[in-house]
Amino acid sequence: MQTQLAEFIRGTAEGREAEEILRKCVHCGFCTATCPTYQLIGDELDGPRGRIYLIKQVLEGAQPTARTRLHLDRCLTCRSCETTCPSGVHYGRLVDIGRGVVEKQTPRGALQRAPRAVLSWVLPRTRLFGALLKLGQLLRPLLPPPLKRMVPERGRARGAWPAARHARGMLVLAGCVQPALAPVINAAAARVLDAAGISLYEAPGAGCCGALRYHLNDQAGGLEDMRALIDAWWPMIERGQIEAIVMTASGCGAMVREFGHLLRDDAAYRDKAARVSAITRDLSEVVSAQADALAAGLGQPAAAGRIAFHAPCSLQHAQQIRGVVEPLLERAGFALTAVPDAHLCCGSAGTYSILQPALGNALRARKQAALHSGQPETIVTANIGCLIHLQAGAHVPVRHWIELLDERLAATAG
Ligand code: SF4
Ligand code: SF4
Repeated sequence: MQTQLAEFIRGTAEGREAEEILRKCVHCGFCTATCPTYQLIGDELDGPRGRIYLIKQVLEGAQPTARTRLHLDRCLTCRSCETTCPSGVHYGRLVDIGRGVVEKQTPRGALQRAPRAVLSWVLPRTRLFGALLKLGQLLRPLLPPPLKRMVPERGRARGAWPAARHARGMLVLAGCVQPALAPVINAAAARVLDAAGISLYEAPGAGCCGALRYHLNDQAGGLEDMRALIDAWWPMIERGQIEAIVMTASGCGAMVREFGHLLRDDAAYRDKAARVSAITRDLSEVVSAQADALAAGLGQPAAAGRIAFHAPCSLQHAQQIRGVVEPLLERAGFALTAVPDAHLCCGSAGTYSILQPALGNALRARKQAALHSGQPETIVTANIGCLIHLQAGAHVPVRHWIELLDERLAATAG
């Protein structure tokens, strides 16, 4: 696609990147068929090809309108279009650049700014979020059904975190909302990796990965969170205490893998960010590499029940990790049920389900129908956002897949 960037962005790092991405798009429209918002709304401008056109026009100098912003807001950033695109168009980066420009040129009114400001302020503050969540859980029985659905029930107890005893060590991100919503996830990962000969550490002061603020179009705030996280991790990386950073939430993993790229022009953080991204692994990759060591702990597992796996977009599209979790669960004795349209987003997408509730709920209803269709006893996933979003209205428990592996190992050991 030929582009003539406007003066305001021509020659800038973002301009060069956007131009390179736009040039790759051949306007074939293959991506449209796999776009969840196009499927729901049926408007070309609510699909990737239409959004790419809108962004191109804005970067070429057209004045964006509130309507332009709405079409970009409705995008889930699920990146299903990237998986489908035969030309390798990096849509996720283009939409981030486009949103940043549109946000500046067409500021939102107070009614739209307020909820974004609240989310952007509260969610990355782990303690504050935890306190508000506890209050909501206390009042949950008194809430009307629509509000009740927004407050998840109290998560399972964390259980013991194994003492550091192995020569091999890895860092795990505590994250911002996960410690309050599901403290069991990282502890279960620590127990499974301990059984495989790896000690897992959470670095003090390591909070949000930056995805929350970055994707709420507070891109400067998101970059601040990224730098703070690198600072919290760096002493352990520098000492050589850890060999990798493990991500138990694929949404955070997708973001941390982009640190090197997003901080490439920051002289103070460029090298550290590149190193952090290079050693970041999704939990499924780490456990998969230890599958033989863990098989001994599992013995000959008995049939363990039927499960449906929901592959988060941040795992299958953003990180292009597919077919890694499923064999781990099968090896532990679980039977996986078929999930139609597994490439489609569940509608969670960070804060999307809060800011675009109609679309988020419609996508959740479709995803739940697909997940329930094989009559599983449990639904498992790999990202805290999807887990909480899918729990509302699910007929069976929704959990992180590592919890099941942890319980199987405990059952065999006991
Ligand atoms: S990221 Fe997802 S919602 Fe956005 S255009 Fe691509 S497929 Fe559609
Ligand atoms: S599939 Fe790729 S090349 Fe074709 S329109 Fe979509 S983004 Fe452009």
